[in-house]
Amino acid sequence: MLRTDLIAPLATLLARHATARPKAVAFEDRTRALTYAELADSTARIAVWLAAAGVQEGDRVAIHQPNSVDWVELALAINRAGGVAVPISFAATPGEIAYRLEDANCVLAFTRAETADSLRSLCATRGIAAAVSAFANGEGEAARGGDPSAAPRDPDDIMQPAFIVYTSGTTGRAKGVVLSVHGLLWVTAACWAPIVGMNENDVVLNALPLFHSYALSFAVITIVATGAREYTMENFSNSQMIELLAERSFTVLPGVPTVFHYLLDKAKNEGRQSLGGIRLCLSAGAIMPGPLNQDFESWFGVKLLDGYGITETSTMVTMNWPAGGRKMGSCGIPVPGLTVRVVDHEDRDVAAGVEGELIVRGPNVMLGYHGNPEATASALKDGWYRTGDLATFDRDGFLTITGRLKEVIIRGGQNISPAEVEEAVNAFPAVLDCAVVGVKHSFLGEVPAAFVIPRPDQEIDVAALTAHCREKLSSHKVPQHFYVVDAIPRTGSGKVQRFKLREQAEVG
Ligand code: AMP
Repeated sequence: MLRTDLIAPLATLLARHATARPKAVAFEDRTRALTYAELADSTARIAVWLAAAGVQEGDRVAIHQPNSVDWVELALAINRAGGVAVPISFAATPGEIAYRLEDANCVLAFTRAETADSLRSLCATRGIAAAVSAFANGEGEAARGGDPSAAPRDPDDIMQPAFIVYTSGTTGRAKGVVLSVHGLLWVTAACWAPIVGMNENDVVLNALPLFHSYALSFAVITIVATGAREYTMENFSNSQMIELLAERSFTVLPGVPTVFHYLLDKAKNEGRQSLGGIRLCLSAGAIMPGPLNQDFESWFGVKLLDGYGITETSTMVTMNWPAGGRKMGSCGIPVPGLTVRVVDHEDRDVAAGVEGELIVRGPNVMLGYHGNPEATASALKDGWYRTGDLATFDRDGFLTITGRLKEVIIRGGQNISPAEVEEAVNAFPAVLDCAVVGVKHSFLGEVPAAFVIPRPDQEIDVAALTAHCREKLSSHKVPQHFYVVDAIPRTGSGKVQRFKLREQAEVG
């Protein structure tokens, strides 16, 4: 069943729940909760303020906020003002923030009061035109609103750009994926509502980072569309999550495989077998190993459904259904409305069981990469998005992700571009050359490891190099291992033979 009733402008969806269940809590964090009526009201007020502050339709506005009710309020308000929201991780380094503000040409950035001054001086030193506005716990100049008699723009056209979500590609620099409300709501209408059964009685516990597409789709847009309730944690913490699950009643828990691995490990150590009222757990972002999935379900007695999602497809491409046949280790079957193919290098469909590249076409495919027509043209051909993932279909149509053509490293569900890490390592004075690969890690799936060639007559001080990387990169991108080597294997055309390095790391 396709829930087409959920495909509507965000303001319409908000108004629907605000009218029907004004007192129902929509979003909640450690400091506050907002009902649907309050959310409809506050987002309208902020949207009016944005227009009065000069934000025009289509203007980009950055959200540099930790996971919070504020984050959601601002995202919805930017949309209601006709703007395009640009999420930026609150843990991003100054270089990463500046790159996104510049690349998306943001006119305004919302941040916290404690980071407003440093963001202003970052913009001033780099010549970035974005204005900076502090917003926290529902307070800030934007919260005071504008003309009380003015109405927000509330755009009707949901096919327009609404979000630019940055994703680490293979070419180093993150690319801004342009998504529409229509594309995002397709995933709600075709996957989260009908398959997962998301509805107004659901209470979600969210620890996914809101700046990532998975949370944007599931933990923001789908909550608003279905009228569910959500408690959002600032960050994932295993012990806090366990406390919350014990203290309160939740029904759905989204996560990446690592989260479920940690939860199961701790619960087994403590001999605890309950997840409270959770009816369903959802995993996406990286391969969910079949044995872990099986073990989790038999320990807790709760289904853990794996689905395969990508930022460029507004997330879900395939999903496991709670009822009917399931195959552990498979990420399920295609989401309704999408066409999924597994093809060889000449774009011919391969037979069941044969590995090929997964390509997908459907209403949830991105509008393109912001300001990057070349990258858009190479990723999107005749409406088909080339995922760069290797996969197999079995005879029943179940899909299994088997590897990646692209080189991105996935550490606990967070993508890391090797090229970006290499750039940082190479900037260390004693480094002549380097290559970064993902090496296996029992909990996180993969972690970055760097192979480093020192400059002649120089020694690499690994502690100093690690400190240097910490300054330049978010902590999850900092290589966990450094190997000092004499040479880096490359192909005739100069491409690093990463598989050789991975083998080397596993042996050594
Ligand atoms: P992102 O754009 O950050 O969401 O990353 C998308 C990538 O994550 C995909 O191209 C896959 O490589 C990987 N991925 C997402 N979900 C799954 C899954 N269920 N199984 C295996 N890999 C996945």
